[in-house]
Amino acid sequence: FYLRIPAPSLQVFMIVGGGIAGVTCVEQLSSQIPSADIALITAGSHIKAVTNYKQVSKTLEEFDVEERPSSVLEARFPNLTVIHPAVKSLNTQSHTVETADGRVFGYEKLCICSGGRPKLLTQDNPYVLGIRDTDSAQAFQKQLSKAKRIVIVGNGGIALELVYEVEGCEVIWAVKDKAIGNTFFDAGAAQFLIPSLEADKPERAAPCRRPRYTTEEPAAGSGSALGPDWHEGIVLRGAETGFVARTHPLTVPFLFPFHALNFSSLPVGTWPVYILLTNGKTFGCDFVVSATGVVPNTEPFLHGNNFALADDAGLQVDDHMMTSEPDVYAAGDVCTACWEHSPLWQQMRLWTQARQMGWYAGRCMAAHVLSEPIELDFCFELFSHITKFFNYKVVLLGKFNAQGLGPNHELLVRCTKGQEYVKVVLSGGKMVGAVLIGETDLEETFENLMLNQMDLTQYGEELLNPNIDIEDYFD
Ligand code: FAD
Repeated sequence: FYLRIPAPSLQVFMIVGGGIAGVTCVEQLSSQIPSADIALITAGSHIKAVTNYKQVSKTLEEFDVEERPSSVLEARFPNLTVIHPAVKSLNTQSHTVETADGRVFGYEKLCICSGGRPKLLTQDNPYVLGIRDTDSAQAFQKQLSKAKRIVIVGNGGIALELVYEVEGCEVIWAVKDKAIGNTFFDAGAAQFLIPSLEADKPERAAPCRRPRYTTEEPAAGSGSALGPDWHEGIVLRGAETGFVARTHPLTVPFLFPFHALNFSSLPVGTWPVYILLTNGKTFGCDFVVSATGVVPNTEPFLHGNNFALADDAGLQVDDHMMTSEPDVYAAGDVCTACWEHSPLWQQMRLWTQARQMGWYAGRCMAAHVLSEPIELDFCFELFSHITKFFNYKVVLLGKFNAQGLGPNHELLVRCTKGQEYVKVVLSGGKMVGAVLIGETDLEETFENLMLNQMDLTQYGEELLNPNIDIEDYFD
């Protein structure tokens, strides 16, 4: 009599997560080692694909994102198997993962790309929403269509987009910092952008090429994070027709720490929920949007293992995207870059970095299997990000907000109301960061000046003189 234990099926490479980091990792591995067996385990039925990728300059990149059925990826890569449902647990000693339906899979090299989930002001409150994926964006839209007033809490990219996009509903924006958008901007840039909130929005010139984040069959379970233009095609309109009002308690800090929020002790009135701010003011509203960042999705992987976690609860990774557990890599929102950063780079949980980390993790995994040397990729030399806020093109480079520079820096600013805002951060006479809002056409020149660390002391304020063609100047 033999007890037959099914041997876990062994896949050489296993990637967890069908967001941009995971999918890019799969693509990279497949191109590095076309014969490799690769398994992608992901919670939802759809994956995220990068399309129309464009390298704008040495470090700046632009791309669109499409949500596609995972079968599309399998059709592209014959050695790829996509596995559902989600990973329930990981055993790094036996090199196995178990999925929610009880199946066990073995791996030689594993890359965790499980993303993050919204940090909520309070858990399990039906009036507090986070926006992360297609499902939660649709839930938000549904609630908004019946709402007369909402409160948006937070000051990052999502909050900025929401306050601009939501119409037909009064919006109270609770910001703990002194200026709006402080994740991306300083007070000057915020000042430049504020008039856009009051102004009429321009008609959209052409239908957006990017995906509409509505799928015919919404992916079940924890989906991928949304990306640029997530609100395109989703009507963000409240119950009030023809009425737009925004209240900006901009200089008012909201209740901090978050967990001290006490919804139940607030007055019972006509609104379904009330929020108390640290300035003592109470606002009633239909619901609260909690847009205060993400928490890395690490839970299924931690139990029984010994992962080193960073202060922000991400899986620590080294300059080869390796976690502290053998043969386990991580990339994207779930990880925290713990190598010694280039002086001009910082991690931000953004779309572009998810792609870059997934790509580099795939290269590292292949290099390790093939015993080839590999060096930290060039994209981690200089932080760069292109996005749109309030319909302005926004380019952020290097230490764009003088992050970590202390008092030892100088700022040069050029601003034309309604047109452009240019800020340069100089340290020791060298350019270390820039914020470019509007069609400035300065990104490539500034990127070069940052990468080559030229001493700019002699140019002084001339650097931003609009009558000088700066490109010719440094050619
Ligand atoms: P995700 O895209 O979150 O993917 C994680 C994947 O892991 C998903 O497929 C999920 O199903 C899967 N998964 C999770 N747990 C498990 C498990 N246990 N087992 C199996 N699979 C699992 N960034 C920008 O650069 N520009 C923007 O304009 C921008 N706008 C945004 C707007 C919104 C509303 C949000 C929420 C984010 C936005 N971001 C933006 C951030 C950007 O979306 C993320 O940084 C990026 O998507 C992270 O990619 P990722 O692959 O690491 O994770």
